[in-house]
This record gives sequence, structure tokens and C-alpha cells, in this order.
Amino acid sequence: MRESLHNLLKIQEIDKEINALHQSQVDFPLEIDTLEVELKNARDQLDAQQQRSEELEKNRRTFERDLEAIEADLKKHQDRLYEVKTNKEYDALQIEIAGLQDRKDDHETAILENIEMIEEIEAQLGEDKKYYREIEKDRQKRIDELTAKLNSIEKNVRAWERKRSAIEPHVEPGLLNVYNRIREVVKGGVAVVPVHKGACGGCYRQLSPQRLVEVRRADSILRCDGCRRILAWREDEGAV
Ligand SMILES: [Zn+2]
Repeated sequence: MRESLHNLLKIQEIDKEINALHQSQVDFPLEIDTLEVELKNARDQLDAQQQRSEELEKNRRTFERDLEAIEADLKKHQDRLYEVKTNKEYDALQIEIAGLQDRKDDHETAILENIEMIEEIEAQLGEDKKYYREIEKDRQKRIDELTAKLNSIEKNVRAWERKRSAIEPHVEPGLLNVYNRIREVVKGGVAVVPVHKGACGGCYRQLSPQRLVEVRRADSILRCDGCRRILAWREDEGAV
């Protein structure tokens, strides 16, 4: 039984590895999704800013074309000032010129404001692009890492299972059955625990001297009265 328990501890280590690998198959894709969503959101934000900048640029060109037309119109009106015959015509023309002048001013202000906004967005865009390049490199590295690990999980699981199969024949079947049953119900899948400082290594309940002797002798399957795990003696625990 002692040899069986020793091998059972090895099997349990292997089972922990296999469990961790299976858990990774759940966790890694979730982490990859999160990273990809983060990158996509950052990219979308950059695209939105880029689009806003382009819209402002387009508006500015429209304003500039309108301004040119207004200026041409204004010049035409100003030239006509020399041709009018009556004061009434002159006054009417002046009113039109004043109106055009106002429109010219408004357009010039709008163009200036537009240029300022574009400069602001472009500066922000420069910062954001720099930040994006940084996180893209970092997150992509992690995604590649996780993907590579995911791709090798099945292979690793099979390798551990082969090791497990090689040890299994060296564990008494009855003990292996108990182990498998306990594993299904206990937290963390730990079903066999070494005795540590005279206590159960699973729930830390102190064992009676009689119990300790029995565990060390390992004639039969001994389970902790507290957590029902299988107790195993560790070589380094010393004499009882
Ligand atoms: Zn216990």
C-alpha cells in the first residue's frame, strides 16, 4: 500500500496538470476575446477621430470655396459703387456690401475655428496612435502566446495521460477507485494528502498518535476523519 500511495501522489500531480490544462482551454479563449475587444475598441476610436478630422477638413474646403464666392461678389458690389447714379441706389448697395462683409467675417471665423479643431484632433490622434501601437504590440504578443499554448494543450494532455497510464498499474485498484471518487467531490480535486506535522495536509486536523502509526504503516486505505481525504505518509515526516 505504501508504494501505491506514493504512486497515487504522483498520479494526483499529473491530474492537477491535466486539470490546469483543461481549465486553460476555457480561460485562454476568454482572455484572447477580451484582448481582441480592447484592441478593436481602440482602433474604432482612432477611426472615429480620423473620420471627424476628415469631415472638418471637408467643411473647411466648403467654407473656403464659399468665402471665395463671397469675396468675388463683394468686389463686384464695391466696383458698382462708382457706377451708381442716385443716393438711393448707393445706400441700397452699401447695405448689400455690409451684408456681404458680415458673411465674409463669419466665414473667416468659421475657417479659423475649423483649423483649430483639426489641429487639436490631429494632435490627439498622434498621441492615440502612439498609444495604440504600444498596446497593440503588447496585447498581440499575449494573444500569440495564448494561441500557441492553446494549440499545444491537447498534445500536452496526451503526454500527461501517457505518464498517468504508466503509473496506474502500480496503484492498487481499490485505492485508485477511492481516489477517483473523492476527486469528484473535493475542492481542487485534491484527494490524497500527505501528513504534515502530525496533521492532515488537507484540512489540518491533528491526527491521533494511533492514526499516525497506522498511516505510516500503510496497511490499508486510511482517510482523514475531518475531510475524508486519503492520508499518505511522507518520507520527510520522520518517525512517530
Ligand atoms: Zn483532513
